Amino acid sequence: MKTTEFLELVSKTNQLDHRQRTLLTSALTQLSDEPKVNELIENHFDNKGSCPHCAHNKCYRHGTAHGLQRYRCKACKKTFNALTKTPLAHLRYKAKWLDYLDAITDSLTVRKAASNLKVHRNTTFRWRHRFLAWIKQDRATTLHGITEADETNLLESHKGSRKLDRKLRKRGGSACKRGISNEQVCILIARDRSKQTLDFVTGNGAITKAILTTYLKPILDSDALLVSDGNPTYDSFCHAENITHKAVNLSQGQRVIEGAYHVQNVNAYHSRFKSWLGGFHGVATKYLPNYLGWCRMMPEFPHRTNKNG
Ligand SMILES: [Zn+2]
Repeated sequence: MKTTEFLELVSKTNQLDHRQRTLLTSALTQLSDEPKVNELIENHFDNKGSCPHCAHNKCYRHGTAHGLQRYRCKACKKTFNALTKTPLAHLRYKAKWLDYLDAITDSLTVRKAASNLKVHRNTTFRWRHRFLAWIKQDRATTLHGITEADETNLLESHKGSRKLDRKLRKRGGSACKRGISNEQVCILIARDRSKQTLDFVTGNGAITKAILTTYLKPILDSDALLVSDGNPTYDSFCHAENITHKAVNLSQGQRVIEGAYHVQNVNAYHSRFKSWLGGFHGVATKYLPNYLGWCRMMPEFPHRTNKNG
């Protein structure tokens, strides 16, 4: 609508009677968020340059569908839009996506989000993992300067899985074996002083030098100084990779060395993550990277044990 037409429309609103005003207000509030979401999608997901099916870079506009620009690849002739091959492809009710992102920020349960958004809880369950699969991709590639690293362990959970190779453990149960066994999944967190955080689910059992080489070596900038607890695995990794290392001997009551080196940020992160995760009534191990990405998205969130499900 042209500006002059719009101003004319506005000038006419004082001619509306009470009933008409009510109708207009309700029509405006029911206006969909979909155009706004479509605009965000077009700006955020930039795969227009090349075909997501075959990576060919000659593509042309090919109409629109569901409010999104459609493209066609000259090589493979397939069509695609900005969401093709992303975790958000083929999800319905785009008008509600912004509200759903708010629900994620508020750590809402699947049920509560479904009731707020007036969609079925199967929809919000599907959305949770698709949105989280997308969110977790947003992460730093390297950590700089003083970088704390530490691992923590969680009991493995096959929740929701049809194939079980062992007897079901009661939810929140304890491990049958003492210490760090193969029943536990190791999560490695590294965090630098600019609060960039990287998380890795490294598999079952205790941390090893090979694990540190696989996960930490590629993400530590050449200026990085690694701070860990007294676990000798970190020392031998740093020694082998020529990385400056400070080890805080927590078991001997040491907290900070040389006034600057400690692992308090990463340990606080572990405890916030575990406390927040505790509100979800058991999380399948295969989804842990999604929950870690979720936690990373709200790094300063307060300790809370909201009842989630
Ligand atoms: Zn193609």
